[in-house]
Amino acid sequence: SDVLIRAKGLSVGFPIGGGMFNKQILKAVDNVSLDIEKGSFFGLVGESGSGKTTLGRALLKAAPITGGGAHYSDGEVDYDLENISKEQLKDYRKRAQLIFQDPYAALSPRMTVRDIIAEPLEVMGLTKTRAETDARVREIAAKCRLNLEHLRRFPHAFSGGQRQRISIARALVSAPKFIVADESVAALDVSIQADVLNLLKQIQSDMGLTFMFISHDLSVVAHTCDHVAVMYLGRLVETAPTRKLFAAPRHPYTKALFSAIPSLDPDDRGTAQKLTGEIPSPTNQPSGCKFHTRCPFAIDHCKQVEPKLETDGSGHDVSCHRWKELMAPEAA
Ligand code: SF4
Repeated sequence: SDVLIRAKGLSVGFPIGGGMFNKQILKAVDNVSLDIEKGSFFGLVGESGSGKTTLGRALLKAAPITGGGAHYSDGEVDYDLENISKEQLKDYRKRAQLIFQDPYAALSPRMTVRDIIAEPLEVMGLTKTRAETDARVREIAAKCRLNLEHLRRFPHAFSGGQRQRISIARALVSAPKFIVADESVAALDVSIQADVLNLLKQIQSDMGLTFMFISHDLSVVAHTCDHVAVMYLGRLVETAPTRKLFAAPRHPYTKALFSAIPSLDPDDRGTAQKLTGEIPSPTNQPSGCKFHTRCPFAIDHCKQVEPKLETDGSGHDVSCHRWKELMAPEAA
């Protein structure tokens, strides 16, 4: 398989509190390693405060990074995102784009839709003439189901779903290879969410793009993505091809997220545990396994020793001391 983005022991920290001498570093992302395959639709799931947005932005090189690194390779170029030069960063930005979380806040109300979509081309100097820019804008707009009439208007004239399509067109106009969509459907109504996701899926297969889709909702991600990673307090707790994750989730946190999805199967007696309590504050993290304060299976060992992400060679990785014994009853 062909890896597009590889993160190795990636951590992202922000200085918090205090004066000059007692600055603390808050690790929003802690020692994350993952591979994103070329052409995949990769889902990243977690509650708010899990570090998923920070990780997505770090992969786009938009957040301060401490230690570890991320690597980008599209076959022609190879970037160490940690030690990237200014020129390379510019080039990388053409290849990687973010679709914003909130299409209402992200679109400038004073620009026409045409200008909003054209702006990245102008900023990055990708087109030479206005005619060339217009042609490119029209081509992308059509892919996002926007017409010429739409291009002349201002964003306030559009519904949430249409605004989201404008954001997508803007992100795609520079022909990026890697796109991070950060809960870009969360603010939308369920039926519109499905439309936007289907559009992203279609564009992805048409243009051969690689997407990372960030959401707090495992059910949204599970129906769209071919690979899913679950985050908790800055750590990856489980990552697997979606089918495997669905068939047999291994981490108690993932199981709890699944049990929060309403089941349509009347025979499903709900063997999974419900998730209770709040995610602890990143500034005051539990010892050992970060999930132990909410895990119904926590034992003393969990409180003392942080589990490592274990791989079984099939691409299904989990970080829990007890996952094997917890799987056993279901197998019997
Ligand atoms: Fe629960 Fe222990 Fe596994 Fe953490 S390591 S998820 S506390 S069983």
